[in-house]
Amino acid sequence: MNLSRLLRPNIAALKPYASARDEFEGTASVYLDANENPFPSAHHRYPDPHQQSLKKRISEIKHVPLTKIFVGNGSDEAIDLLFRAFCVPGQDDVIILHPTYGMYSVSAAIHDVKIISVPLTRDFDLDANAVLKAVTPKTKIIFLCSPNNPTGNRLNRDAIQNLLTSFDGIVIVDEAYIDFSSDVSWVTQLDKFENLVVLQTLSKAWGLASLRIGLCFAHPEIISILGKIKPPYNISGIAQQLAEEALQQVDKKENMVRDILQERERLVHDLKTSSVVDHVYPSDANFVLVRMKANARTIYEALLTKGIVVRDRSSVKMCEGCLRITVGTKKENDQLLDYLRSL
Ligand SMILES: *Cc1c(COP(=O)(O)O)cnc(C)c1O
Repeated sequence: MNLSRLLRPNIAALKPYASARDEFEGTASVYLDANENPFPSAHHRYPDPHQQSLKKRISEIKHVPLTKIFVGNGSDEAIDLLFRAFCVPGQDDVIILHPTYGMYSVSAAIHDVKIISVPLTRDFDLDANAVLKAVTPKTKIIFLCSPNNPTGNRLNRDAIQNLLTSFDGIVIVDEAYIDFSSDVSWVTQLDKFENLVVLQTLSKAWGLASLRIGLCFAHPEIISILGKIKPPYNISGIAQQLAEEALQQVDKKENMVRDILQERERLVHDLKTSSVVDHVYPSDANFVLVRMKANARTIYEALLTKGIVVRDRSSVKMCEGCLRITVGTKKENDQLLDYLRSL
């Protein structure tokens, strides 16, 4: 991989900001370097800008070395920074596979980067040849989401591998839902593919959406660039501490995932017997995409009057007539199913 060819020239030349905690990293007894308030409280010091302790725990769990880990203020920050690193505004383009997660195109629009949108196949899988045909000399990034949001399915591994070897740019695999999938994470393939970037998050399976912790795994050169362009203290001290504590409780996460998967199976089964449901798409995630027989928007609004909110995806291309339903607790799913039965 020729990273300097892929990087934005201004980013390749960037001399990063050095925070007070960058200039001095050890421990001291008197800190007069960062213009902090000297009166002690739990929060008066700046947090570790490099999140070393949290990353060490992530490294243990994911079996990925520290040099290949970036922590963002949600995956959304990592997505934003990848645009900043690689895409020249008004010049470069990226490829997304639709239908997919909306942030890729919003982030592209914010950065004035052109989006080339290639459709997934009829069963929402990846057609590597169609993607390769769409690549231009200005294509810097291909965004893949597996398991995909809002369709719920995982993408064919051979097709992803084909892109990783044939495309001369960055391939991002967003694995926000990987913990709900029987698929193996692409982090296991980082040594093989220097252009692979894997995104994960603590927002879904780990139950920490409020903390805003996104994980990005990639070649050390890419991670080093992200470290240079991120805001210096992008993860608050509280978030670092609570995330590290939560990551000590792998069992708790696995129990939650097991319960959610059990409920997913039941929800899918019962939805399939519902008279208003036309089709339930197979899911490797903690949600299901459901095609309704009647007008999806009408059902969405009827659910709202019962205090039940799902995601109306019926105006999304290839998701016509569809609602995306998150797997809730047994009680929540029962409320949804009971109401659908009453229609
Ligand atoms: C929910 C989700 C994320 C998570 O974003 P955070 O900013 O980490 O909360 C990322 N990608 C996809 C596809 C998602 O659905």
